[in-house]
Amino acid sequence: MILGEHLATAISCLHLTNRSVMLHTSLRSFGTVIDGGADAILDALLSRGCTVMTPAFTEPQFGVSAPVDMRPARNGVDHTAPPVSDTVPEVDPYRVDCGLINPALGLLPAVLVGRDDAVRGRHPLNSFAAIGPESAEIIDVQSPDDVYGPIRELADRDGVILLIGVGHDCMTALHLAEQRSGRRMFQRWARDVDGAVRMVEVGSCSAGFPKLEPVLGPLAQSVMVGASRWRAFPARQAIAVAAATIAAQQNITHCPDAGCLLCRHAIAGGPLDS
Ligand SMILES: [Zn+2]
Repeated sequence: MILGEHLATAISCLHLTNRSVMLHTSLRSFGTVIDGGADAILDALLSRGCTVMTPAFTEPQFGVSAPVDMRPARNGVDHTAPPVSDTVPEVDPYRVDCGLINPALGLLPAVLVGRDDAVRGRHPLNSFAAIGPESAEIIDVQSPDDVYGPIRELADRDGVILLIGVGHDCMTALHLAEQRSGRRMFQRWARDVDGAVRMVEVGSCSAGFPKLEPVLGPLAQSVMVGASRWRAFPARQAIAVAAATIAAQQNITHCPDAGCLLCRHAIAGGPLDS
């Protein structure tokens, strides 16, 4: 069983005390029970002065289909493919207090979002949520047109990206690196606070991000907790080296699926003005 003292030791070894941490976690990676579960990981970080941020995405709950007059070219979507629906589902607009989250993100982000003092960003499909001393300032910069503002803010504050038993394909910050390399972010569709459908920025395919390991790996500090490998990356440096690498070799992020439309359009530069 993983105990609080094991988590505390890892946090000390990785020099995370008082830092803001972008967290991506596989609870299964520990290979055993964690005493206190996801809450224990959050509390271990919070008790050492960390701010903890996770993705809190809600595409399944708040995504709507594309209105015919909001379909930019090269946007990672084949509008000719069935099923084509021009009707927009009647869903309520996203609210920061909706309490919903994409279950595919796993248990820990859901636990964080459910805490009373969690702060959540104003993006209907790809919000981030945070808890801890810097959470309000970091989350406040997010908007539907600036999906990765909180990651930029965390990096500017000398924050850390912590991968707990997961790979670079889970490192959301690499989408910010794609943007910095010159790519435009894809547009998807959701209801604005007033109920009208609008386009919002989202990320692309991340299945090729493990190919950035040769440039990201040297930045990582690592520690094992049970069977779980924790890797901490300084966010600012990781984003900078990834952006430079992608800019020099756009194709490097292509995923193993040669026919991936998301990768093809992202590598070409992302959506064009409609
Ligand atoms: Zn792909």
